[in-house]
Amino acid sequence: MTQTRGRAQNWDTSPVSVQRYLLPRERDQGVITVRRHPAVLIPPIAEAVGGLVAAFLLSGTLLRTNAPLRDVVWVAWIALALRLVWKAVNWAVDYFVVTSQRIMLTSGLLSRKVAMMPLGKVTDMSFQRSFAGQLLGFGEFIIESAGQDQALRTVDHIPNPEKLYLDVCEMLWPPAPPPDCKMCNGSGNVVMVEERKLVAVTCPNCNGTGKAPPQRTDGFEDPHIESADPNNDPSED
Ligand SMILES: [Zn+2]
Repeated sequence: MTQTRGRAQNWDTSPVSVQRYLLPRERDQGVITVRRHPAVLIPPIAEAVGGLVAAFLLSGTLLRTNAPLRDVVWVAWIALALRLVWKAVNWAVDYFVVTSQRIMLTSGLLSRKVAMMPLGKVTDMSFQRSFAGQLLGFGEFIIESAGQDQALRTVDHIPNPEKLYLDVCEMLWPPAPPPDCKMCNGSGNVVMVEERKLVAVTCPNCNGTGKAPPQRTDGFEDPHIESADPNNDPSED
């Protein structure tokens, strides 16, 4: 059974290419995996479409009678189209990964590259959104670290950066578990008034362990003690 922190996913829902870089304790504590926003592909798509229009126009007009140059134009367009395919495939395998231990950026299809930064080194984290980012829903993460290595200083085209920002904060500062013993909040001591003075005494509910006492099954209720009421002090019995 894996326990996840905050809104982190279970490790087995993250892609296999990311799973192989995860430590066992990172798997236990959940992993955030996001792909870059598809807007990263807008420039190569625009170039491929623009190139196609230009190639059609040129072959229909200026180059109508110049077959060799027309071939050159179409070969150039094929190169643009292949470049788009290459960028799309690389986009599909690139992931921004946040675990309980570190931030990682995996990239590259043929030669895999993994940049990483321990969470303990992160000194500041912010994000900014360009106008296009506001419209399309992506932003740039800016991670300041204590180390010299700035491989991960900015990570652009992060989708829904507000949510990721909160998720990463949950990773950095996980919520404290609720106290076992409700009477002493897990501290093992309660403060009582004795002869008009506040004194700390061993919690009668958990006997100072801070853990919840075993549930009774014999029908008796747990002792109910008003900890701040001197007239109802169980230590006087
Ligand atoms: Zn207690």
